[in-house]
Amino acid sequence: MNVDQGIDQRRARRLNLRQDQKGPVIYWMSRDQRFQNNWALLFACRKARQLQQPLEVVFTLAPSFLGAPLRHYDFMFKGLAEAETSLRNAGIPMTVLFGNPEETMPDFVQKRRVGLVVSDFSPLKLVRQWKRAAAAEAPCAFYEVDAHNIVPCWLASPKQEYAARTIRPRLDALRRSFLTPFPEPVAFCQPASLSAPPVNWDELLSLLDTDHSVRPVSGITPGEAAAEQRWRSFLAETIERYDDYRNDPNAGAVSGLSPYLHFGQISAQHVAFEASQSLVSQSNLNAFIEELFIRRELSDNYCFYNEQYDTFDGLPAWAKTTLMEHAEDHRDYIYTPEQFEKAQTHDLLWNAAQLSLVETGLIHGYMRMYWAKKILEWSPTPMAAFDIAVMLNDRYALDGRDPNGYVGVAWSIGGLHDRPWSERPVYGKIRYMNASGCARKFDVSRYISTMNRISQTTLF
Ligand SMILES: Cc1cc2nc3c(=O)[nH]c(=O)nc-3n(C[C@H](O)[C@H](O)[C@H](O)COP(=O)(O)OP(=O)(O)OC[C@H]3O[C@@H](n4cnc5c(N)ncnc54)[C@H](O)[C@@H]3O)c2cc1C
Repeated sequence: MNVDQGIDQRRARRLNLRQDQKGPVIYWMSRDQRFQNNWALLFACRKARQLQQPLEVVFTLAPSFLGAPLRHYDFMFKGLAEAETSLRNAGIPMTVLFGNPEETMPDFVQKRRVGLVVSDFSPLKLVRQWKRAAAAEAPCAFYEVDAHNIVPCWLASPKQEYAARTIRPRLDALRRSFLTPFPEPVAFCQPASLSAPPVNWDELLSLLDTDHSVRPVSGITPGEAAAEQRWRSFLAETIERYDDYRNDPNAGAVSGLSPYLHFGQISAQHVAFEASQSLVSQSNLNAFIEELFIRRELSDNYCFYNEQYDTFDGLPAWAKTTLMEHAEDHRDYIYTPEQFEKAQTHDLLWNAAQLSLVETGLIHGYMRMYWAKKILEWSPTPMAAFDIAVMLNDRYALDGRDPNGYVGVAWSIGGLHDRPWSERPVYGKIRYMNASGCARKFDVSRYISTMNRISQTTLF
């Protein structure tokens, strides 16, 4: 292992073959929108110090991003504004480039005579395409640092893994090297000689081509400080109930960290490291690490190695076959995407989950499985079901447009990372779930009445 000042060099890879040049070092902040505990920022700081060059952070803002509505931009901008302040206090200016990143980034690199670019890592196709284009055009070195995963995605496995059981031993073997504490970011940075005017986030918001009907939510505060606070209170008060109660949506036994993790406002490694150093009992620690580390990084693995991650076509062959064999089966109910969206099904439990998604931007993990499986059961085709589930999840869930979301839908509807079960109508061999199964696990009426109370004022 090559560890340089606390940074394992295997976290970084080159996206082109050019050399570091004399000129400012740029950290292209994208998926990891935080100041603390950010390996990409730390790597850029170290480069800036080695080369005696100033460091700048750049965020590229496309006019639209995979249909993200106002709700998501609101959450993201508030978090970015906080990161901007922290960076500025450390002498690192932040600039936002508005437009197509494939053009704005190379343009900026050229005009500013940038010496090298460091980006963070995302397995999503669009972001990879932006980076490929920018790296090809950059006249300087272009690095990618996986600041999102505990084990860098390309190192965890060289191929698409079948299931948690196949990636778990690989991740476990690398865990000791990578599940480490973080150094302080400022320790690496020189005071920057550059300055940039403060970002006008309100003005940027007005430039976006975004759907304002999906309103911001008030139940969760964005940003690094709020993320850290949420994590601390989960660790202090709730994690000891995680193993027994995480599948009970009434129990309040989950962390609620996914929007923060999605926008990179908190580091999964920081959370996992602190959990592993805490006094939490082994069963709760194991259950939490299984989700935060193994399942989450399995999702990145799928999206990284399977470009069809957001479509029915990406599903395992056995699952597509069984679903197509049952595509013509009689369905007791068939709903349109609009009926699903407006929570107008016959099923109060399903409607409650959908209302929670629409009104709060959040939906409990256990209910998410039920929610997606019923979309399969009540859609005209399995392909339509896949698209509707992705559309609703990405449109309303604060943690949407995430590898976890594509994998969650693919697991529920298309057997990804699962195995064939006994065959039944519509589902074929895909694992089945029904309301009586939910009733055995938790108080369904209580869930319905809580969600209905939360959604007293509906969007429609
Ligand atoms: C249909 C469907 C859609 C989903 N869409 C998303 C999504 O858009 N974004 C998203 O982050 N997660 C998604 N998930 C996965 C999971 O439901 C959420 O990560 C979890 O419910 C978030 O709540 P939490 O932060 O309280 O989780 P906790 O139970 O506290 O877990 C901690 C963290 O572990 C990770 N995690 C937990 N469960 C899973 C899982 N099953 N797979 C992968 N990682 C997991 C998440 O990062 C989560 O924040 C989806 C699951 C399904 C079945």
